[in-house]
Amino acid sequence: TTEQLTKYEKIETFVKGFKLSGAAYKRVMALLHQEMNNGLRKQSHTMADIKMFPTFVRSLPDGSEKGEFLALDLGGTNFRVLLVRLQAVDIDIQSKTYLIPQRIMLGTGTQNCKVEIVAVVNDAVGTLMSAAHGDRNCEIGLILGTGCNACYMEYLDNVGTWKNDEDHHPKQVIINTEWGAFGDNGCLDFMRTEYDTELDTFSINPGKQIMEKMISGMYMGEIVRLVLERLTREGLLFRSVDRECALFERGRFYTKYVSEIESDTDEFFRNTKQVLDELHVESYTTEDCKIVKYVCTLISARAAFLAAAGLATLINRLNKQDMTIAVDGSLYRFHPRFHNLMCLKIKELVKPGLKFKLSLSHDGSGKGAALTAAVSLRLR
Ligand code: ADP
Repeated sequence: TTEQLTKYEKIETFVKGFKLSGAAYKRVMALLHQEMNNGLRKQSHTMADIKMFPTFVRSLPDGSEKGEFLALDLGGTNFRVLLVRLQAVDIDIQSKTYLIPQRIMLGTGTQNCKVEIVAVVNDAVGTLMSAAHGDRNCEIGLILGTGCNACYMEYLDNVGTWKNDEDHHPKQVIINTEWGAFGDNGCLDFMRTEYDTELDTFSINPGKQIMEKMISGMYMGEIVRLVLERLTREGLLFRSVDRECALFERGRFYTKYVSEIESDTDEFFRNTKQVLDELHVESYTTEDCKIVKYVCTLISARAAFLAAAGLATLINRLNKQDMTIAVDGSLYRFHPRFHNLMCLKIKELVKPGLKFKLSLSHDGSGKGAALTAAVSLRLR
């Protein structure tokens, strides 16, 4: 009975849903592979959760790209203009950042200037293009930031939704998977926890982006918060907490806290304590810190493993001896264990003999965009 369980056994009952077997991740892979095929086929595309959009990018950089290109990186507040000079393997980049003036932000959007727009690039594709310039084995791009998305190079023969110049070479195209929407049809429900359901219910897009909600930076902190809140209410964490404590406010536990807490390596829990102070948790013990860190490790590991299952699905599909995956995004950059956890799980899930490397990609939205324009001109 519950009375006979130790405190740790009780905590375990509230978090065990985050610990998934190898078989569970293999099931995810089989489902994802199937759904990717659905997205690629003309007959099933409309119904598929994963849209597998063909981009217009038909080749990766081969090092022969030359010329001067402007790349415009338009973020939420900043606008970065880059002049990228490509000369074989040498790349020279000059850039200047502008604040977007209010009158432009709220304007009609019809002004802007005398340049020929050659390519409009999303972050996953830019990340892939940027890394592929220096690495011939790179054919997959992954974003682990606010959202989670992946793209990869696919053979045109496999792309039923391809409508353009059928036989034009090269017979390949980058596919923007938009895999964050995987699970929207309920197929991942077997691995979702009550916390995932709650997070989804209170999100701005209930029922949507189910895989993304289990992985990306926009949500990870909130999942941790929901678990900590539950453990606190069950009397298993923090002896006395004010009802007004920020721990009970939605969205107040940032994903960067997860990185900070997991970066604590000794029993002093310096970062963890700082986070708890920021949240105005009045009193906590070293044991509380240990539990908070434990919860973070479980939730970030599940995220890393799920992303790994997605990558392993792509690596197996492409079936190349050596594959480099270009990765960008703050979650991947700053979380202390994400890279290692992903490598560990991918190794477990890919076909024997296939080698892979995860490599941090730089400046996908600048250098990657310029390279995309250069490749497009090369193929004209
Ligand atoms: P975007 O994906 O919006 O282009 P980023 O790659 O910087 O930009 O990702 C932003 C996301 O990364 C936010 O959701 C934020 O919570 C998360 N994030 C920011 N810093 C960290 C960190 N140190 N560790 C983990 N996640 C972080």
